[in-house]
Amino acid sequence: MSDLQVFRQETREWLEENCPQSMRSPVNTADQACWGGRNFDFESEDQKLWMERMGAKGWTAPDWPTEYGGGGLDRAENKVLKEEIARIRARSPLDSFGIWMIGPALLKFGSEELKQQHLPPIVRGEIRWCQGYSEPNAGSDLAGLQSKAVDLGDHFIANGQKVWTDQCDKADWMFCLLRTDPEAKKQMGISLVLFDMETPGVTPKPIKLISGSSPFCETFLDDVRVEKDQIVGEVNQGWTIAKYLLTHEREMIGGFGLTGAGSKTLGMIAADTVGTQDGRLNDLFMRTDIARWEIDAASFALTAERVSDEVKSGQGVGATSAMLKYYGTELNKRRFEQLMKINGSNAMIWDGEVSNGGWAARAWLRTKGNSIEGGTSEVQLNIIAKNIFGLG
Ligand SMILES: Cc1cc2nc3c(=O)[nH]c(=O)nc-3n(C[C@H](O)[C@H](O)[C@H](O)COP(=O)(O)OP(=O)(O)OC[C@H]3O[C@@H](n4cnc5c(N)ncnc54)[C@H](O)[C@@H]3O)c2cc1C
Repeated sequence: MSDLQVFRQETREWLEENCPQSMRSPVNTADQACWGGRNFDFESEDQKLWMERMGAKGWTAPDWPTEYGGGGLDRAENKVLKEEIARIRARSPLDSFGIWMIGPALLKFGSEELKQQHLPPIVRGEIRWCQGYSEPNAGSDLAGLQSKAVDLGDHFIANGQKVWTDQCDKADWMFCLLRTDPEAKKQMGISLVLFDMETPGVTPKPIKLISGSSPFCETFLDDVRVEKDQIVGEVNQGWTIAKYLLTHEREMIGGFGLTGAGSKTLGMIAADTVGTQDGRLNDLFMRTDIARWEIDAASFALTAERVSDEVKSGQGVGATSAMLKYYGTELNKRRFEQLMKINGSNAMIWDGEVSNGGWAARAWLRTKGNSIEGGTSEVQLNIIAKNIFGLG
C-alpha cells in the first residue's frame, strides 16, 4: 500500500472509533453547529466529545502545523481526511472564526508568542473569537474606521464603537481593527489588536434581526486596556493583515455555497418532502431548477477545490476570494429560495420543528445577509473587475 492508502486506512479506522453515531447525521439548522468556547452550551455530550477528540488530534485545523496544535497534514492527506469525513457524513466538529479568520492571519503575521498563546486553544475549541471590523460609518469603506487606540507607554487604551459584530456576546476574544495613528493616511494608521471580551469597558449590545434571532451586536469600547504584546504584526501596519484576513473570510463565506459533508442535497430534501413513494419528483419545473442548482454547485465545488490547491501550492488566494465569495453566496441564496419552494406552505411556519420545514423561513431570511457580510457583492464585483479582469 502507498503511504496515502495507509493514511486513508488509519483515518477511516480512527473516525469509525471516534465519531459518535449521533454526529453522523446532517446539521439542519445553524443552531446545531458547534462553536466551542468558554461558555458554549453543547447540544449533547456527543457534540462535546466529537469536538474534543478532533481538537486533540489537530483535525479541526488539519493543515495547521503540529507545533501550534494543528494536524500537520499535507494537501493530499487533507483531501483524504475530507473524503473520509464525508463518507460517514460526519458533522463539522467545530465552526470557528478562530480557524477561519484570525488563525491564518496569526500563522502568517503573528509573533511566535502570539501563535503559541492563541493557536492551540483555537484548535481545541476552547476559545471562541469574534471580529471587530465594521463601524457605523465604516463598512465597505473599512479603512475609514474611527475607533482608536492611544499609546500609553506599556499598553494602549481603546475607545469607539463596532457594529454587526457577529456572536460578540458569546465570544471570548475579539480581533479588532483600531486607528493607532490619526495623522497618517487612512490605510496607514490602523493596527490589528486582540483582547479578551471580559476586559473592563467592553460592552456588547445584541441587535435583533429580521430572522427573529440576535446573532449580532453593537460593541462599545470605553477605555479598554489593550496589551502591547497583543498587536498582530507591527503597529500601524494592520491594514495589510486585515486584507489578508478578509480573503480567508470571503473564502469561508463563499463555502456556504458548497453542500457540506453532513448536509442533505437539495435533491434529497425534495425527494423526502414532496417526492413520490419511490423518491421521484413529479414537478418538472422543480426537477429542472434542482438539477441546474446541483450542476452549478458541483462546478463551484470544483473551482473552490482548484483555488484551494493553488493556495496550498503557494499562490495566494487574493482577488480570487472575491469570486468565490460572490458566486458562493449567490448559490446559497438560490438554495434557500428552492428550499422555500420545496417546503411550500410549511416553509411559512415560523416556530415549527425542523422536520416540518419550520426552520426554512428563518434560514432563508438569514441568507439575505450572505451577500453583505465579509464585503458586499457590489464590492466583490468591483474587486473582480479591477484585479481579475484588469478593468479600471
Ligand atoms: C450577516 C452579517 C454578518 C456580519 N458580521 C460581521 C462581523 O462579525 N464583524 C464585522 O466587523 N462586521 C460584520 N458585518 C458587517 C459587514 O462587513 C458590512 O455590513 C459590510 O461590509 C457592508 O458595510 P455596510 O453595512 O456599512 O454597508 P455600506 O458600506 O454602507 O454599503 C451600502 C450599500 O452601498 C454599496 N456600496 C458601498 N460602496 C460601494 C462601491 N464602492 N461600489 C459599489 N457599491 C458600493 C454596498 O454594496 C451596499 O449595497 C456583518 C454583516 C452581515 C450582514
